[in-house]
Amino acid sequence: MSDDQLVLVINSGSSSIKYQLLNPATGVVAASGLVERIGEPTGAIEHSVPGHDTLEHTGPIPDHKAGLRLAFDMFAETGLDLAEANVCAVGHRVVHGGEVFYRPTLITDEVVDTIAKLSDLAPLHNPANLTGIESTRELLPGVPQVAVFDTAFFHGLPEAARTYAIDAKVAAAHGIRRYGFHGTSHEYVSGRVAEVLGRDPETLRQIVFHLGNGASASAIRGAKPIDTSMGLTPLEGLVMGTRGGDIDPGIIGHLVRSGEYDIERIDRLLNRNSGLKGLSGVNDFRELTRLIDEGDAAAKLAYDVYIHRLRRYLGAYLVELGGVDAITFTAGVGENSAQVRADALADLSAFGIEVDPALNTARDRAARRISPPGAPVAVLVVPTNEELAIARGARGVVAELG
Ligand code: ADP
Repeated sequence: MSDDQLVLVINSGSSSIKYQLLNPATGVVAASGLVERIGEPTGAIEHSVPGHDTLEHTGPIPDHKAGLRLAFDMFAETGLDLAEANVCAVGHRVVHGGEVFYRPTLITDEVVDTIAKLSDLAPLHNPANLTGIESTRELLPGVPQVAVFDTAFFHGLPEAARTYAIDAKVAAAHGIRRYGFHGTSHEYVSGRVAEVLGRDPETLRQIVFHLGNGASASAIRGAKPIDTSMGLTPLEGLVMGTRGGDIDPGIIGHLVRSGEYDIERIDRLLNRNSGLKGLSGVNDFRELTRLIDEGDAAAKLAYDVYIHRLRRYLGAYLVELGGVDAITFTAGVGENSAQVRADALADLSAFGIEVDPALNTARDRAARRISPPGAPVAVLVVPTNEELAIARGARGVVAELG
């Protein structure tokens, strides 16, 4: 397969679509964009081409297909007509692959049906991903479409790590197990760590913290994950922007018995009104930091709970791995908040874990080490690039087609 072929990566949410056209061999981005507020009167599209002014569209965007059609027109306006460009595949992010999908998969009618059936497991995500897939299949019928699953990397988790200790018959009947999410990011970042350290990934014990709006941790031994913090759904684990992560499941029964909560209200509470937002009123980390600087006690407590949870997972994974060679921070908060990195790993020199203050606060966007030279445990900041990982997965599938 030639090295100048491009992949269009699409991440379709319920009311938005992020897209990127890039070269999977070099990582060079030809164009990227965001379609927002689909279905609302205030729809908007921003389309960026490196070296050109950003194109903007505002106005109602009735559905995903209309949004993509407008975006594709913007490609053409900037001289990159998708029908004529060298696009070898479209790679779609799909959140839940269940037990069925654990590698990038060529999309057929049957695959679409199966992803739809898996919507039971991811009602907020899979239907939105499918809308993007169906629209793109109609708009670019000649281009192979590939689904890349957020759960795939964690498919082979050891049985003890993936099993919930509930009635095994109930779990089997309802597909209940730890699936894990952000897998594309954990896989990409842990691979980059091995490159940055110049080590064979097979020899490394790693802990990766993906800290964005959603947040998750993983423990990886020899390039294979042995545990991860998200579970059946992306609600479990770390404290996130609007999700609280681990809670006592008894809280749900307690609220239902109060008579004030039905399942929709519980879902809203756990998905949208918990986490940093539930504790402090804001879900954006920069806002949280601003409130803390102003002396806001609720924001400070939210931050402390966030760090406490990170350290709890760090301790658990350190023991599960029997020691660690590399600890890595990625995504919006992980890449940008030196404070979070310093606080998450404070006072752990007894375990060989140290952060160098100057390296930690250096303004550098590249993948880098922030532990002192010669420290037993490498601590790193590695920018994630889920689009590139999806593009490479899609290109791999197309290459196999011949
Ligand atoms: P998503 O999960 O939506 O992809 P991102 O990985 O972009 O999210 O992360 C978004 C989070 O990163 C937000 O909470 C945002 O406030 C935070 N963030 C971005 N830049 C900074 C920064 N300079 N300092 C602290 N937090 C930041």
